[in-house]
Amino acid sequence: MALLEILEFPDPRLRNRAVPVTVFDAALLRLVDDMFETMYAAPGIGLAASQVNVHQRLLIMDVTEDHSEPLVFCNPEILAREEVGVMEEGCLSVPGIYDEVERAQRIRVRAQDRHGVVFERDLEGIRAVCLQHEMDHLEGKLFVDYLSSLKRDRIRRKLEKERRDRAPAGRAPAGAAQSR
Ligand code: ZN
Repeated sequence: MALLEILEFPDPRLRNRAVPVTVFDAALLRLVDDMFETMYAAPGIGLAASQVNVHQRLLIMDVTEDHSEPLVFCNPEILAREEVGVMEEGCLSVPGIYDEVERAQRIRVRAQDRHGVVFERDLEGIRAVCLQHEMDHLEGKLFVDYLSSLKRDRIRRKLEKERRDRAPAGRAPAGAAQSR
């Protein structure tokens, strides 16, 4: 198992549109394991492959505190959505930023598990919101896209400043080249 690097806004690679998962092999299982390790270490409750620079339609989720409900969704499709509501969201690719986003609070999803077996599942509340948030990543979309452009620019500047402050003196921070 290995920790993967999580891309951070405004890295342009987060804007890639993911392609369907077509091969369910040992490499995919390893990727899923590495994504769980990376998500739990962050810590976070959801992670899309796009965020670790793998542009395939794969996402994982575990909203429990004791890591007891690991869920894997390959090629997810939302079949039904109900009850729009607002919840505060955060994102491992937009560290330290939280804001309210309006989404369906109940959904039915069809996906494939890590072995390619098709399943359907009803999700509600935080699980429903998390799934929609992670599915946005597969389209190259981030939760800050739902905020005003003013707010988004402020967030971008704040994160860029934090990355500059974090970088060793005299060295450009990772991602600086793309963000200019
Ligand atoms: Zn996210």
